[in-house]
Amino acid sequence: MMKKRNVDLVCDIAELISLAEGGRDRRELLQQVVTSVASHMQADVCSIYIYDEEDKELTLRATQGLDERAIGAVKLKLGEGITGRAVRELRPICVGTASRSDSYKFFPGIHEEDYEAFLAVPILRGLRRIGALVVQADEANYFTPNDVKALRAIAAQLATMIENVQLLSEARLEAAASETAAPKKVISESLIKGRSASTGTARGKAFTLDSANSESCVLPDPDAKPHSLEDFERAVEKTAEQIDRLQRQTSEELADVAVLIFSAHLLILEDDQFSGRIKGLIEEGCEAVKAIATVVDEYVEVFSKSKMPLIREKVLDVKDLGNRLTRNLLNEEADTADYQGQIIIAHELLPSDILKLSAENVEGFIVSSGVTSHNAIISRSLGIPMVAISREQADAIPDGEEMLMDAEQGIIYLHPGPEVYDKYRDLDQAWRVLHDAADMKEETRTRCGQRISIFANINLLSDLKPAREFKAEGVGLYRSEFPFIVRNDFPTEEEQYVIYKKLVDQMEGRMVTFRTLDIGGDKMLSYYSNVNEANPFLGMRAIRFSLENKDIFSQQLRAFLRAGADADTRIMFPLVSSVDDFIAARDIAYECMSSLDAEGIAFNPDTKFGVMMELPSAVEVVDELAQEADFLSIGSNDLIQYMLAVDRTNEMVSSLYLAHHPAILRAINRIVRAGLKYEKDVSICGDLSADPRMLPFLLGVGLKKFSIDSVNAPTLQRLVNELNMEEAEKIARTMLALGRISEVEAFLLERNLAPECEA
Ligand code: PEP
Ligand code: MG
Repeated sequence: MMKKRNVDLVCDIAELISLAEGGRDRRELLQQVVTSVASHMQADVCSIYIYDEEDKELTLRATQGLDERAIGAVKLKLGEGITGRAVRELRPICVGTASRSDSYKFFPGIHEEDYEAFLAVPILRGLRRIGALVVQADEANYFTPNDVKALRAIAAQLATMIENVQLLSEARLEAAASETAAPKKVISESLIKGRSASTGTARGKAFTLDSANSESCVLPDPDAKPHSLEDFERAVEKTAEQIDRLQRQTSEELADVAVLIFSAHLLILEDDQFSGRIKGLIEEGCEAVKAIATVVDEYVEVFSKSKMPLIREKVLDVKDLGNRLTRNLLNEEADTADYQGQIIIAHELLPSDILKLSAENVEGFIVSSGVTSHNAIISRSLGIPMVAISREQADAIPDGEEMLMDAEQGIIYLHPGPEVYDKYRDLDQAWRVLHDAADMKEETRTRCGQRISIFANINLLSDLKPAREFKAEGVGLYRSEFPFIVRNDFPTEEEQYVIYKKLVDQMEGRMVTFRTLDIGGDKMLSYYSNVNEANPFLGMRAIRFSLENKDIFSQQLRAFLRAGADADTRIMFPLVSSVDDFIAARDIAYECMSSLDAEGIAFNPDTKFGVMMELPSAVEVVDELAQEADFLSIGSNDLIQYMLAVDRTNEMVSSLYLAHHPAILRAINRIVRAGLKYEKDVSICGDLSADPRMLPFLLGVGLKKFSIDSVNAPTLQRLVNELNMEEAEKIARTMLALGRISEVEAFLLERNLAPECEA
């Protein structure tokens, strides 16, 4: 190995930078810096990322060694990957074997996969983040503390230069902004980095379906032959048949949520104001495609201005209908006109839109308004990948663009090359093997023989099939709100009973945990117009809604109790903030039991009642809650949100949403201790239960019951099999003693055998 000459390097860079004062192009200069560093350090890769304070995002701006198409396209959020962490924590991070590091972010297609040694040094001006200087090498443990020092010296020099140039260009941009019109759809980047909302990969063509945009998204066909009135009438007939078929099919497959889901489509189609008006325009000599687009636009305009949410929600239905009609008109041969082979880009989507588009075979979703928790959950249940990106990024994707979505990592490849497709074929295969439930054992045990139970989270009845496939020991969480969200009115007790009974029957004697309605927060019912809340997450959500609306609550409780007759069922209440909340809710359930008894209707008198541990206030009174309730279930998604005051759906603070925050670790420990003390069952049902990094901690504090999305069950069982309780308990003790986020992160990294050398 040639000797590294770090002192020469620092001098050379100083000279390069002094030339920059003479007005040299910044891109060229950064490129020269990375080339020079890579060559002096004998590193395989050297890259510079520049930090954007507003977006809290790093963008690759120069590289030697990675695919140059990644420049401008690879983006990392603050805290994301080893580089993002170095910049967030304002310190160099040196990792000997990157592939074993939890923080490592892998971007296929940019040739990063061959490098093990990874050294990221933040470029700082005081505490101001400017960017990062990164080197990589294929030989593990290649970088030394001396290299860290040299890169720090270079980073310090780069900081001043970059900051000066940035200030200048910001001033220029400001001046230009007032003169520039809205950006056109131009595509200059081959990769977009967003945030994963539902995992999986999807391939397909981009199709923009923007409900907030009044412009019609009907595809114009430049070669279309003129269409007659008869052609249009045939298209209407065919569209009606398709929708009818779709409705029947969906009602069978998704009985709990798909009742009359396409009814608005049919109503609008049959409305004379709609089809009649299109016919009128065609008779006046307007081309049929144009006539459809015109009337769709008129409807969109009227619907989107409506004061009633129920009407506003129909905007997407009209657009969808217009697309279907147009496709049927243009392509008389095809008989589906669905979204197979297409990835939908939308500003906003409703859970019912997701259901409809899923029935129409859409491949994936890209959403640009942030993702509500219910949208993420429903997409996961339907197995459709979903990625959230910014409005600006979405606007830059032209319709018809070939894309590959890696929703696991939140990456969208635009016009991907064959090497990206090949890579993903292999990754897909590996993913399938990893998530295959066929080989799962009935019982899950640690290496030392400790029995652990894995339950399923159920959102839609269709989740029962994969739950049975992995031999779930029961349902640890049934999110009951979806049948409420997709309807036009509250479902009756009888309608609910039918759904809940199916759930109980299909679990064939295994325990079922019903969670009462959790609406509010980021999902209101469109037919229940509550006051507009300034802080809906702190407002009329979950058990608060149920306690305020006793009739609706009682109907649901009666349906749960009836469905549980002769079965092993439990009921838990979401967002409980006090013992009083819990007792008030359970008292209503007791009243329901008395009335069912008086009416002679069968129900489960042994139903257990539990608390979802999601609020800091509940943690403070956990001892009293554990004494009062039959069981506790940790809802880690909300527990993290409310303990850290970080909105779980807000992109801008996603780097602060930390499951390993010492406060969260200690809260979980307190909850488990209270359960043990009062001999009450404690389980965990939030996404944290599927986080492999945190599993040793969770086992170590004494959690033995996990409720997770079925897709994660094989991995959980495999990881549990590899762990030993004594080791897990030691890990938990160590983590509980740490008071800083950075200490917990360093500990987790260390455990993954990714040596870090502090500079
Ligand atoms: C949770 O908060 O962890 C939870 C399981 O409930 P939801 O995700 O439905 O809010
Ligand atoms: Mg919750």
